[in-house]
Amino acid sequence: MGDQNSDQKKTSLGLATKALHKGRAWSEKRENSPAIFANSSYVFETAEQGQRIFAGDEEGNIYSRFTNPTVEAFEIRIAALEDGEAALGTATGMAAITTMFLAHLNAGDHLVISRSVFGSTTNVTLSLLQRLGIEVTQVTLSDLDAWQAAIKKNTRMFFSETPANPTLEMVDIRALANIAHNHDILLVVDNVFSTPILQRPLQMGADIVVQSATKYIDGQGRMLGGAIIGKEAYLTEYVLPMLRNTGPTLSPFNAWVLLKALETLPLRMERHCSNTEKVVQFLTERPSTKDLVHYPGLTDHPQHALAKKQMDHFGALFCLLLKDQQQAHALLNALQLATITANLGDSKTLVTHPATTTHSRISAEQREAAGVYDGLVRFSIGLEDWRDIVADLEQALEKVGL
Ligand SMILES: *Cc1c(COP(=O)(O)O)cnc(C)c1O
Repeated sequence: MGDQNSDQKKTSLGLATKALHKGRAWSEKRENSPAIFANSSYVFETAEQGQRIFAGDEEGNIYSRFTNPTVEAFEIRIAALEDGEAALGTATGMAAITTMFLAHLNAGDHLVISRSVFGSTTNVTLSLLQRLGIEVTQVTLSDLDAWQAAIKKNTRMFFSETPANPTLEMVDIRALANIAHNHDILLVVDNVFSTPILQRPLQMGADIVVQSATKYIDGQGRMLGGAIIGKEAYLTEYVLPMLRNTGPTLSPFNAWVLLKALETLPLRMERHCSNTEKVVQFLTERPSTKDLVHYPGLTDHPQHALAKKQMDHFGALFCLLLKDQQQAHALLNALQLATITANLGDSKTLVTHPATTTHSRISAEQREAAGVYDGLVRFSIGLEDWRDIVADLEQALEKVGL
């Protein structure tokens, strides 16, 4: 789990170098691309060694539900990129989020969470956690006074997603960390939209980062995966026992693909972002759409200054706020290159109508409160030639009369 190899402890490497070299390990075969350890258990040399490893007196692998060299390589690399001491891989992003909650929160504890988070995160907190006796308060992400006002004696954790799905609303991570730490509260940040390439919450005071590797980290729509990143002691004491006993484990094969995918993440994010800037420029120069674009990179975005302060680029997601569901659906159906999916962070350009898909299972009231209006369309810009993405949008907008 941890970055145990001392020659890998240097933290001064650039992100692109870390993405290629952190977590690198050779077996005695000296392969220059990681092998996959596709095994469930490990052999002890003697009965006594088995006893020592189980007792924690000797390091060693036991069982792939909680120790696997390929998964560990991915964990070391993602931890290095997020600038965390350690990481634990999980089967999906939701497995990371749920495991992190269950590892830390007890009946009687209080969780404060922003309203605009991934749909399943809302469902897990409002159904599962409340059912287990954990109190939950929802607040508006960007409203620091609301976070402060929500604090009670039993508040243990703040959970935020910034930029948030799908509205791209943000919170000042440093300021939120200050509020949390003044009251001994843990700050958890879902960093899926930015990836560590664009934003590193742990450097800004967050205690834990959760990732869905399904999105940009794989970035090619091939698989699911997730990670929990933070202080080694926190992960070992709280999260590892939960993972070990309940088994939301990342598979070695997925860890291997994700390890390779991380190698190109810095390069891919650069192109995702520059393509998005071109597409947004096209939309803001077009009279019929210029006031409909929500993108943190626009100077008239209410949180543009904050985005500039805490992100390295403005990301590859933006929203168009159309008139209603009918117009939104018409635009989706008119696109030819962009594909309609509920996913984001793929190498291909994707388009989503959140109100009728990703956010359809939360109440209309909750949707409104989270800014998921019926006319909202979310774009996840891919790695195509940007001129083709623009041409596709242009013909689709013309078809719907915009
Ligand atoms: C997709 C997503 C998740 C959940 O990840 P899965 O890998 O699909 O379980 C969590 N948070 C955000 C912001 C996401 O986009």
